[in-house]
Amino acid sequence: MSVEKIEALVVGAGQAGLAMSAHLVKCGVPHLVLERSRIAERWRSERWDSLVANGPAWHDCYPGLEFPGYGPDEFVPKEKIADSFEAFAEKVKLPVRCGVEVKSVRKNEGRPGFRVETSDGVIEARYLVAATGRSRSRSSPPLFPKVLG
Ligand SMILES: Cc1cc2nc3c(=O)[nH]c(=O)nc-3n(C[C@H](O)[C@H](O)[C@H](O)COP(=O)(O)OP(=O)(O)OC[C@H]3O[C@@H](n4cnc5c(N)ncnc54)[C@H](O)[C@@H]3O)c2cc1C
Repeated sequence: MSVEKIEALVVGAGQAGLAMSAHLVKCGVPHLVLERSRIAERWRSERWDSLVANGPAWHDCYPGLEFPGYGPDEFVPKEKIADSFEAFAEKVKLPVRCGVEVKSVRKNEGRPGFRVETSDGVIEARYLVAATGRSRSRSSPPLFPKVLG
């Protein structure tokens, strides 16, 4: 089985993972973002339908973007927020791979880096960023059950 190699691997394409990726692009660091579902999935399917941002549009928008159809003082619904994260990823051309779940992470023995098992094969990364969020239920199993080393 072939092993894909990458300098940095970001797990999760929510706000944090996308922001990290944008900074890595800016710094010229080769990397990949893995998202088990869709970009900003938590905003799409893991919030009440009626949720709106708790900050006004001028505050909750990513740099260089606007919420089309919403004034700066309006509170934007969750779907529009998710759309804006997707638009941001597209605009900055972030290397996001959706539909790939990280199953386990293992620190390499005797050399730097990590071996990451995903639903789509194995990836070796020198650096790893866990941006998997914190809003999970208590009964959820650990996201990285095998971070060893
Ligand atoms: C009710 C509520 C209201 C909120 N209101 C606001 C608001 O108005 N404005 C605001 O700015 N913030 C708000 N927040 C906070 C905001 O939702 C979170 O701070 C933000 O989503 C955290 O971003 P994140 O990238 O850390 O994590 P998440 O958004 O949780 O993203 C993590 C991503 O990682 C993915 N992932 C997880 N495990 C794996 C895996 N093993 N492999 C691959 N991918 C994986 C998930 O699918 C997900 O897409 C609110 C939160 C809640 C709960």
